[in-house]
Amino acid sequence: MNIHEYQAKAILNEFGVPVPRGKLALSVDEAVAAMDQLGGKIWVVKAQIHAGGRGKAGGVRLCRSAAEVKAAAEDLLGSVLVTKQTGEAGKQVNRLYVEEGLDIESEFYLSLLVDRETEKVAFVVSPAGGMDIEEVAATTPEKILTLAVAGDQVSESESRTIATFLGLEGMQVEACATLLAKLHRTFCDKDGSMLELNPLIVTGDGDLVALDAKFVADSNALYRHPEIVDLRDLDEEDPREIEASQFGLNYIALDGHIGCMVNGAGLAMATMDIIQLKGDKPANFLDVGGGVTVDAVCEAFKLLFSDNHVKAVLVNIFGGIVRCDVIAQGLLEAIETHPMNVPVVMRLVGTNEEEGRKLVKDAGLDVRWANDLDQAAEFAVAAAKGL
Ligand code: GDP
Ligand code: MN
Repeated sequence: MNIHEYQAKAILNEFGVPVPRGKLALSVDEAVAAMDQLGGKIWVVKAQIHAGGRGKAGGVRLCRSAAEVKAAAEDLLGSVLVTKQTGEAGKQVNRLYVEEGLDIESEFYLSLLVDRETEKVAFVVSPAGGMDIEEVAATTPEKILTLAVAGDQVSESESRTIATFLGLEGMQVEACATLLAKLHRTFCDKDGSMLELNPLIVTGDGDLVALDAKFVADSNALYRHPEIVDLRDLDEEDPREIEASQFGLNYIALDGHIGCMVNGAGLAMATMDIIQLKGDKPANFLDVGGGVTVDAVCEAFKLLFSDNHVKAVLVNIFGGIVRCDVIAQGLLEAIETHPMNVPVVMRLVGTNEEEGRKLVKDAGLDVRWANDLDQAAEFAVAAAKGL
């Protein structure tokens, strides 16, 4: 689960990680008031959206007067920001974060993530911060260090390795060790799957400060973090995904034409791959899961039928715990309110497949039956083309 920059910084602050002082503003007046309360001479008005690359897209404004803060807030609030990470549609700015402006001496990249190869929490750091880290990785990979933390805490030699790689010297080596320990504790205590500071800066006074922060919470651990669940901003999420999550469906909207209904994440991935292999693209990832109910299947079909990007639906169910008749019943329930407005291709095998097929056939539904996944994908791709 994603949260906003200002929320991530509040968490970091709780753990003693230095962040710029700042205030949330939901209106132009609040932005000007925030600036007054912060004091100082330079302020940064930052658009709060769940996407990076705001700086280059004009979502981060350095201001030197109340008039500039007011103009930046007027300009940004309600506007749609298109960044490298938002996709073409962009994201509407509903929240601003006003911060004290800091004097930047140097910018680093630092992130923490779960390294699945070593099964450890790892730091990824680079002295080439403030930039697009993917670009750094592609052009100058030697400027990136990945270091998996061996024990429960960052050791002295591990933090020295990182500080040296970043080119820090003197007092900053010690400050870096303290910072790394705090970041590691934040990440572990809050069950993060990603914590990224880009940039982490050294100020003119020589202090290390997290100038930007992104935190992604591990959704599987949210049950023990109600305080993070409270930070959820539904405006940032796809309405279809919100609806699906209310029914316990694992649904992610994509930009292709073929609506997929599958049980099991692995099978869903394979289904998406085969659709691409056959020349089209999936409109979504959808794993209905194991203990799915008729109501949830019904909801899933409604989501697919009401999505005007969907030109054909591919049902690929390998019934085990999921029963094929439950899937069929869900379809019959869905069409009571949402007509089957696109061709549906079904591959139903496994538990209760006969019952499932019979239900669909008895209802007189015009469904194309496939014997295996390969054929199902071929049928779906053809159907989406109107063949
Ligand atoms: P992102 O583009 O979405 O990653 O947003 P960031 O928070 O990283 O801001 C982009 C850039 O704005 C940073 O890399 C800095 O160069 C600049 N910036 C942000 N805050 C300050 C500040 O307080 N002072 C100065 N001088 N520049 C800042
Ligand atoms: Mn950034």
